[in-house]
Amino acid sequence: MAKIRILPQQVAEMIAAGEVIDRPASIVKELVENALDAGATRIAVEVRAGGVGYLRVTDNGCGIDREDLPNAFVRHATSKVRTARDLEAIGTLGFRGEALPSIAAVSRVTVTTRTADSPVGSCYTLSGGGEAELTDIGCPVGTSFEVRDVFYNTPARMKFLKKDQTEANAVATLLDRLALANPSVAFELIRDGRRTLQTSGDGDLLAAIRIVCGGEVAAQMIPVRSQAPGGVAVEGYISLPRTSRTSRTLQIFFVNTRYVRSRTCAAAVEDAYKNRLMVGRFPACVLNLTVDTSLVDVNVHPAKLEVRFSSERDIYGAVNLACLEALAAAERPREVPKKRLTMLSLDDFDYSDQQTRIGAPAAPAAAAEKPAAEPPASLQPVAPAPTVLRAADEAPPLPVRPAYPRPAVSADIERTKPRTAPPAPPARREITPPPSEPVSEPETPAWHVIGELFDTYILVQQGEQFHLIDKHAAHERHNYNRLRHLGEEPGDRQLLLTPQAVTLPREEYFVLCEHPEVLEKLGITAEDFGEGTLLVREIPMLLDGCSLQDILSEAAEKLMQNRRNLTPSAMDELLYSCACRASVMAGKKSALPELAALADLVLGDEQIRFCPHGRPALVTLSRRDIEKMFGRLG
Ligand code: ADP
Ligand code: MG
Repeated sequence: MAKIRILPQQVAEMIAAGEVIDRPASIVKELVENALDAGATRIAVEVRAGGVGYLRVTDNGCGIDREDLPNAFVRHATSKVRTARDLEAIGTLGFRGEALPSIAAVSRVTVTTRTADSPVGSCYTLSGGGEAELTDIGCPVGTSFEVRDVFYNTPARMKFLKKDQTEANAVATLLDRLALANPSVAFELIRDGRRTLQTSGDGDLLAAIRIVCGGEVAAQMIPVRSQAPGGVAVEGYISLPRTSRTSRTLQIFFVNTRYVRSRTCAAAVEDAYKNRLMVGRFPACVLNLTVDTSLVDVNVHPAKLEVRFSSERDIYGAVNLACLEALAAAERPREVPKKRLTMLSLDDFDYSDQQTRIGAPAAPAAAAEKPAAEPPASLQPVAPAPTVLRAADEAPPLPVRPAYPRPAVSADIERTKPRTAPPAPPARREITPPPSEPVSEPETPAWHVIGELFDTYILVQQGEQFHLIDKHAAHERHNYNRLRHLGEEPGDRQLLLTPQAVTLPREEYFVLCEHPEVLEKLGITAEDFGEGTLLVREIPMLLDGCSLQDILSEAAEKLMQNRRNLTPSAMDELLYSCACRASVMAGKKSALPELAALADLVLGDEQIRFCPHGRPALVTLSRRDIEKMFGRLG
C-alpha cells in the first residue's frame, strides 16, 4: 500500500504556520509590519493574558478592499510583490504572503477594515482556517485584526508557551523595537487593560529612546548621522564612552527600519570605541541603516531577523566611520552646536526625589568624619546608617560609603608607629592579642604595614614572616563572603533614607519584575514603580556607594543570558561581580589606614586566602625563604 500521501490543506497550513508563528509576539510582529506597510501613522496593540487568549492590532493605514479580503488569507497572496524580479529589491516589511494564512491556521481571526474610497467597512471572520463570514460594518479608515485562542488547535505548540507574563513581555520588547525603528509612528501597547507604552510619533528618535530605554540612557546618547559614499546612510544615537554597559543587549540595529541582528554592525560600532572602553564593556546604540534595497537580502531568515548584505565590508565601513565621527564630535564640546548640548542636558534627569531629601532629618555622624586621632577602624562598616550628602545645589545626594574611614592621619606618623593589633574584631574574626602582650601569644605576632607596592599589593611584616596581599583580591573575597552570608549579621542590610528610583531599558525591567528573587538574593529590596522604573528600598551595607543602575542591569542581563533561569553558578557570578564592584581597586593608591584595615582583615580571617575566582589574595614568605633566595642559608 502506498505510504506517501498529500496532506489535507488545513494540515499543511498548520505545519507552514509553525515556521512563521511560534508565539503571540510573532503574530503581533506580522500584524504590525502589515500596518506599517499599509502606511499607518498610529498603531495600537492590545494583549490580554499574554496574547494567547486575545490580541488586537489596530492601524490607521490604507485598509483592505472588500474583494481582496478572502485573498489576503490565501498562502502566497500578497499585494507587495508581483514578479520574481521584485524579490531583488524589497522595500516593504512583508512580501511572502504567508503571515495572514499562518495566523488564521492556528487561531480565530476577525478583521475589520475600510479603505478611504469605501463608504462602509467590512468585517471578515475566520475560525481555524475553515469557514469564513463577511459582513458590513461601520468603522474608521484602517484595519483592525482581532486574534483569539492562539494555538487552540495545535496543542503541541501551546505547550511550548511560557507564562503569560513572559509572552506579554516578548510583545512589549517587540513593540519597543518597532517604536525605535519608526519614530514617526505613534505606538501604543495596552497590556491587560494597562497602557504600558505610548510614543508620540513626532519623528524624534531621542524621544522614543527616552520612552523605551529610560531617561538615563537617553541623556547619555550622542547623535550619529552620516552618508557614506557607498550609498549607505547611518542614522541614530550611540552612547558616550563613559556610560558603557556590561553586555550588548542595548545594541539595536535596523536596516531600512527592519530590526535585524547583525554581527557586522555590532563589530563596527564596538571597534569605533576601541581604546575608549574597558575590555568587557559595550556601547549602547540605536542605529538605522538605509541601504539600497538591491544591496540587501532580507529573505534569508524565516522571521527575517537576519539579513545578508551584498558587501559586508561596505556596511562595516559605513557604520564604523559614522560612529567614529560622532564620537570625535562629542569629544570636541565647543564645536557641538547648541541644539546637541540641550539634548544631553541634565534636565533629562528627574531630581524630584532630591527635594524630598532636602528636608530629611540629619543623618547620624558617620565614620567618614572620624577625628584624626582615632586609630583606623576595621573594614566592617562603622556607622549604623548611611550618611547623606545634603547640599541641595550639588549632585543628587548619595549615601557615603562607610566602609573605609579615612582619618586625616599623616602617613608618616602612622608608619613610625609599629602596628600591633587590630581593633575590636567583628563577629566572624579571630581575636588578635592586645598590643601590651604580643609575646604571650607567639602564634599571632604583631604585624605592621611596610607600604604598598605598585598601588596594588600591601606589604606586611609579621614577626619572621613577610606577607604580600593583593588588596583587591582580598577585599573582593571578604565582600563575597559577606554577600553570601547576608542576613546572618545584624545590620548588614540598610534601608535607604530615600528610596532610589532606577530606570532600566524595558527588557531588563521586565525580567527583573518577573524574578524579584534574584535581587532578593543580592540583598536588594526593590519594588515595581511602573514605566520601566524600580524603586530600591534596601541594599546590603557593602554595596553602599556602588551604582545600583549597573548592578540591576547586570542582574537582568544574567537572567536574560540564562533564559531567565539562574543556575547557582550564574548566581554566584553575580555575587562575585557585586563583591568586585564594592572592592578597592588595584592600581589605585590607598591611604595607609586603608591598607592597615585590609591587612587586618586578611590576617584575621583564614577564609581570605583566594579571591572568588581562585587567584591568591595572600602570599607569604618566611625569613628563611628570603634568606635562601639571597644565598645566606645553606
Ligand atoms: P505580506 O505582508 O507578505 O504581503 P500578509 O499575509 O502579511 O502577506 O498579508 C497579505 C496582504 O494583506 C498584504 O499583502 C496586504 O495587501 C494585505 N494586508 C494585510 N494587513 C494589512 C493592513 N493592516 N492594512 C492593509 N493591508 C493589509
Ligand atoms: Mg505581512
